[in-house]
Amino acid sequence: AAKTQGHNGHRFYSEEMEAQARQRAILKTLLLSAQTRGELYLLYQPICDLATGTVAGVEALLRWRSPELGEVLPSEFITVAEESGAIDVIGMWVAEQVLKDLCQLEQRAGRALTMSINVSARQLRDPGLPDRLDALLRQYGQEPSQLKLEITESLLIVESDNEHSVLKDLAARGYQLVLDDFGTGYSALGYLQKYPLHTIKIDKSFISGDSSLVSNTSLVKSIVFMANTMGMKTVAEGIESPDQETFVAALGCSYGQGFLYSPPAPLDQILNWITQPEASDSLP
Ligand code: C2E
Ligand code: MG
Ligand code: MG
Ligand code: MG
Repeated sequence: AAKTQGHNGHRFYSEEMEAQARQRAILKTLLLSAQTRGELYLLYQPICDLATGTVAGVEALLRWRSPELGEVLPSEFITVAEESGAIDVIGMWVAEQVLKDLCQLEQRAGRALTMSINVSARQLRDPGLPDRLDALLRQYGQEPSQLKLEITESLLIVESDNEHSVLKDLAARGYQLVLDDFGTGYSALGYLQKYPLHTIKIDKSFISGDSSLVSNTSLVKSIVFMANTMGMKTVAEGIESPDQETFVAALGCSYGQGFLYSPPAPLDQILNWITQPEASDSLP
């Protein structure tokens, strides 16, 4: 609806904001019990080694099926979970779930795989996080190097010593830190050097879309070159077509992820896919 100037427009705007605030309050309340009521679940998306064509690992993507609201996307509920603090409990639930599922995936694949999880800034403010992750890994017999923690750029520019030291602690324990959505934020190169990052994930906005890669060739090339120079791996996210795959592989990207290989899918489907990736057409 169009917003008009003046008194009416102003009132209209406040009503809209009130409606939004109410919606957030509802989300917050429902989300607090979502985990205990078993409404959260994970989908997995394979990450492929572009040089060999094999699956290197999977990324866990959180989903919420609410009886009241239906299927809610992470873009709608993650911020609410961060603001309310629910993300701390949810984040540990994600970590435990992925470790259980990783055991199954590795059994099926017959080799070691990596598991990537997305971690919020708020979780990294907690100095107890590394110890809790370590304890979970011991419980499931996995090594820190198999757990990739995806963080976003905005986190690196926050001047909080707490978050910085938690990141450094995690890296020192062998967790692999991955910079997600690279290129969408501040992209200040100085920050890249300040942190023990293992991998840079090039944002899908540079990869997907009809002319994205063509118009962003030199940019993607520079990111890959810079990452290589600094001893980091790269993942191209949002690969949807064979052409895009060929393109990023030629630019020297280490890994690819996207609908071309598989959309995020339930564990069962990924377990089958791992043994016969060429059958990926049969996925939804
Ligand atoms: P992300 O970590 O950058 O995840 C990649 C997103 O791109 C996912 O969206 C995925 O479904 C989508 N995607 C994958 N391949 C393609 C493709 O070929 N083309 C296009 N257009 N998109 C593709 P999703 O699942 O909706 O997740 C959105 C964001 O929510 C994630 O972005 C991540 O930042 C956040 N998120 C998801 N799960 C968690 C979680 O467990 N914890 C936290 N803190 N954040 C999460
Ligand atoms: Mg991610
Ligand atoms: Mg991303
Ligand atoms: Mg993201």
